[in-house]
Amino acid sequence: MNMVVKIRSLVLPVLMSLGFVFSSACNAESEQTRLLKQRNAEFNKEIIRVSDRVYTAVGYGVSPVSMIVGAKGLIIVDTGISVESAKAIRADFRKIVDKPVKAIVFTHGHPDHIKGGAAFMDTPDVQVWARTDFGHEQHSLAEAGISIQKRRGAMQAGFLLSAEQRINNGIAKAYWPKRKGGVFAVDKSIAPSHIFDTDRQTITIAGIDLELVAATGETHDQLYVWLPSDRVAFAGDNFYKSWPNLYAIRGTPYRDIRSWANAIDSVLQEQPNAVVGGHTRPILGKKRVKETLTNFRDAIQFLFDKTVEGINKGLTPNQLVEYVQLPKKYRDLDYLRPYYGNPQWAIRAIFGGYLGWFDGNATSLFPLSDKQEAERIVALAGGMEATVKQVDNAMRTEDYQWAAQLCDHILAITPNHQQAMLYKADALTALADKILTATARNYYISSAIQLRKKSQKISLSQEP
Ligand SMILES: [Zn+2]
Repeated sequence: MNMVVKIRSLVLPVLMSLGFVFSSACNAESEQTRLLKQRNAEFNKEIIRVSDRVYTAVGYGVSPVSMIVGAKGLIIVDTGISVESAKAIRADFRKIVDKPVKAIVFTHGHPDHIKGGAAFMDTPDVQVWARTDFGHEQHSLAEAGISIQKRRGAMQAGFLLSAEQRINNGIAKAYWPKRKGGVFAVDKSIAPSHIFDTDRQTITIAGIDLELVAATGETHDQLYVWLPSDRVAFAGDNFYKSWPNLYAIRGTPYRDIRSWANAIDSVLQEQPNAVVGGHTRPILGKKRVKETLTNFRDAIQFLFDKTVEGINKGLTPNQLVEYVQLPKKYRDLDYLRPYYGNPQWAIRAIFGGYLGWFDGNATSLFPLSDKQEAERIVALAGGMEATVKQVDNAMRTEDYQWAAQLCDHILAITPNHQQAMLYKADALTALADKILTATARNYYISSAIQLRKKSQKISLSQEP
């Protein structure tokens, strides 16, 4: 029997057994999947009246768009991800008040907040305000020639997933880009005409007094908008109802977590009656805003302080994620659940952000290559066949992370090992069902789809 026939003869029965293993493990919907589905209510399409002069459109695209009504016209805060969704919002805003847009404020330069800009350019002289370093995150990666974050971003956003596989993105409804090529391949954005580069600047437009406040957090170019007359704060992506994405798995430079907590504190000091976040529905009512922002700030600060404490004890990132546990009082709050970001990723980001890649363990200075380590692990297990058997055991006992890690060892030695690919795909699919964090869920399922495709391609290439 040649090698090819041998592999294929092994694959079929394994596929069948996997189908059995997986379907039996996933008959009941997990608590995490149930919670994530329940979240979709947060993304219902609606225009919410936030105050006498403020209306926020939610659920049209992935991020809210707000309208501030002045005597002589409108100011728009953030414009959404696409011109198409922004046009629908513009039309519905007109039904409430038919005045011209005089200015747009971007809370930061992320595409999901700026790409709809063109729909609000009622006249060419609309002022477009943003903070200095606008678009810094994308620009710094582009300048270095790094583009992989687009591919990883598409996996994080779940663009490879079918409509049935998608639930939501944790803080936004499921969304597909018009063009292939990645998460940011949508409409062209409009450029800011006015940049502010101080800590705080008051602008008066259309009879509205507005304060723009520097608030480095999720990005360097983040600001929040303070409308004193109505006591409404527009917090940008420094706030939304989820454990915040202090690190994005698509790959981002270090997000200054201390600064993020300070930015929330600064909004809190304004004593708002309402806060409009960068995603999810606004928080209304002075008491609720105070309680929510206080917990949000304190939870971030707790995680940062505890991580630093662990770092100074000499703990490695892998040890830190066990050492730092959020107190139950934060874990139980729905708006701090890890729908989008995940505390473990933030802990690792803090370590890397301050100390870089070296975990402090001398063994890690010059580790074995993946393949060298895998050869030794597989030998320990009693050879390749015995290792595959271990994978099968791990799947049957629902030890999915270990199954995936064992598959990685097999694939490090034999990159085209179809059984390992398919087992890994099933392990990742099972892990996806067990995780609340939508970005991780999307990434797991995307990887599984890619593995199955790759395996299929190998099978086809082996047809006689
Ligand atoms: Zn955003």
